[in-house]
Amino acid sequence: MIDFRSDTVTRPTPNMREAIANALVGDDVYGDDPTTNELEQWAADRHGFEAAMFTSSGTQANLLGLMSHCERGDEYLCGQQAHNYKYEAGGAAVLGSIQPQPIENNPDGTLCFEKLAAAIKADDFHFARTKLLSLENTINGKVLPLSYLAQAREFVNKHQLALHLDGARVYNAAVALDVDIKEIAQHFDSMTICLSKGLSAPIGSLLLGTKEYIKKARRIRKMLGGGMRQTGILAAAGKLALTEQVPQLAVDHANAKYLAEQLNTVNGFSVNVEHIQTNIVFAKLDNKVDIKTICDKALEQDILLSAGNPIRFVTHKDITKQNIDTLIEFLKQN
Ligand SMILES: *Cc1c(COP(=O)(O)O)cnc(C)c1O
Repeated sequence: MIDFRSDTVTRPTPNMREAIANALVGDDVYGDDPTTNELEQWAADRHGFEAAMFTSSGTQANLLGLMSHCERGDEYLCGQQAHNYKYEAGGAAVLGSIQPQPIENNPDGTLCFEKLAAAIKADDFHFARTKLLSLENTINGKVLPLSYLAQAREFVNKHQLALHLDGARVYNAAVALDVDIKEIAQHFDSMTICLSKGLSAPIGSLLLGTKEYIKKARRIRKMLGGGMRQTGILAAAGKLALTEQVPQLAVDHANAKYLAEQLNTVNGFSVNVEHIQTNIVFAKLDNKVDIKTICDKALEQDILLSAGNPIRFVTHKDITKQNIDTLIEFLKQN
């Protein structure tokens, strides 16, 4: 199978499977899992936070992150395109009673500070209490500039808000900018990282923040049924995700550029190659392209695509340059 649908489809590496087999484990709800404890302490230090917590998914990490900043009746600012607004089943509102205040994203994924400032509610009992700004990096494959992150920090300081990063793909951003991950993380009060996307761990995300904040999140994680037992088998793979697998992202980014260039040679497909910063490629389709039929035919040849216009392709460690050539050949024939 050549699977272009997402980087979540990456399978664990041989080293991960070995680490999983050999991981020391205990009951993590009791705080007894040595491999999870080691990952959490290491990740906190590595990213410049006081504490970290392993979670079952990125969605859970975001929900815990939002609920640990905001109480019932509080509000958070985010993008219309934010994953934690649009693609997480409304969890912050449903489970946290937190009101989202979305702002239209600029084409580069940033949020306009004037619009954000205008959306902050006055201290008045008619209004929800605006507590938090949540950004996402990368967002739809786009990297937020470091200068923008510094401005966001100034903005939240001025307005006494907390600043959260949905960093599901924050390592893609760091690799694309060729900076240490701390250059990005330093601006945020809290951050999530997906271990199971391009970084290839089978399961899990991290939430990072202060000790107090993570303590609160740990309580909510238990409440949501997210307290798990011998999580060391997952944490062992997670550690390799954040160490051994980071250089792979540069390969994925180069492959995405190559894919974008090649798609431009296919009739009916067009990609703005300059927009490709990381591992996600959006191609616009002519009206005459019947993408549903193409995707069905592709499946018969073991190529998995998600239909859409624009159509999204995601590169990752289980996609090689040859696989891209195979896709392009298929598209030219269909
Ligand atoms: C995938 C993703 C998540 C959620 O991660 P899951 O592990 O799929 O729940 C959150 N935010 C962003 C930006 C993502 O891409």
